[in-house]
Amino acid sequence: MAEVKKHSRFQTELDPAMVDRIKQLVLASQEIVITCHVSPDGDALGSSCALCMVLKSLGKKANVVTADCPPKSLYFLPGVRDIVAATRHTDRAHELLGAADLIFCLDYNDPKRIDRLSDAFMRSKARRVMMDHHLDPCLEADVAISKSEISSTSALLYLFLWQAGWTRYLNRSSAACIYTGMMTDTGNFSYNSNDPDLYLIIHDLLRKGIDKDNLYKLVMNTSTETRLRIMGYGQYKMQYIPDHKVAIILLNEDELREFDYTKGDTEGLVNTPLAIPEITYSVFMRQDSNDCVKVSMRSKESFPVNKICEEHFNGGGHINAAGGEFHGPISDALQLLLEIIPTYDKYL
Ligand code: 5GP
Ligand code: MN
Repeated sequence: MAEVKKHSRFQTELDPAMVDRIKQLVLASQEIVITCHVSPDGDALGSSCALCMVLKSLGKKANVVTADCPPKSLYFLPGVRDIVAATRHTDRAHELLGAADLIFCLDYNDPKRIDRLSDAFMRSKARRVMMDHHLDPCLEADVAISKSEISSTSALLYLFLWQAGWTRYLNRSSAACIYTGMMTDTGNFSYNSNDPDLYLIIHDLLRKGIDKDNLYKLVMNTSTETRLRIMGYGQYKMQYIPDHKVAIILLNEDELREFDYTKGDTEGLVNTPLAIPEITYSVFMRQDSNDCVKVSMRSKESFPVNKICEEHFNGGGHINAAGGEFHGPISDALQLLLEIIPTYDKYL
């Protein structure tokens, strides 16, 4: 007779031994730090803030520590204002990491992705739990739940909490954090979103009292004047190279200054060219400082932008969403990009 699965509600079942081990680690710890990747997005912050609230409900001392500040557009997220960002509170961030007996690594799988915190993280003697959905993990952890087939770390966190029997510690606020992460990593359930489990999770989160219509408005349909203008300008400037089915958007330091750019203003800009059916992938490059260009790429179907980011831009990511950086002026970054683009035609 077929074995009856204990946790058969969701199609994805996490390894029960790992779930138990994480529970034990949490219950045995007093001071827990949750970390997520630099330039945290809705999924990184949503999963981190939600877990922080759950751990506090379990009676633990818990803090979210990030390398840099969350974007203003996500300040509405419950708990986000309590985050200790190392750019602003350097000593406190290091103190918390030093005192932690357990560190969660959410939404990243490589110590390089926590940027200025990585030395303190590597020095820490704390146990580590990683929960992530990126490819090719290279972070040593006591327990690692690494599932690249799950569209967001927030959904993965929910599946963990459910299997752990800990969803009762979720309230309306932490549920809203999880929903926000699920929504932002799937473009409001418009890609990577055919997994039926997602909709069971949403059902549960609605039962916790989230207002999904309002979350949509806050995340997807709220903007500042500068953001609207930069998004429009970036699309106006787009270069389209039909022979290679690629669109390129560049913003240099002068343009960012002119538009009074603040962090988060260009979030999603890289996706916009993909609305054109003839475009297979899109590249956005932004000169963040004299010697650092932030690179973002998005693609359709099986075109692997993570390969380009890995091979030429010190980065990586998913097949359809990847990023990295270039050290030098943006004109050099563009020159490199134009040189290498033809070598990826074989994937078109
Ligand atoms: P974004 O373009 O939104 O910054 O990043 C999209 C995805 O690319 C992220 O979810 C992450 O997986 C990956 N990514 C972005 N920047 C980097 C980077 O500097 N290094 C690596 N390894 N991955 C990155
Ligand atoms: Mn994510």
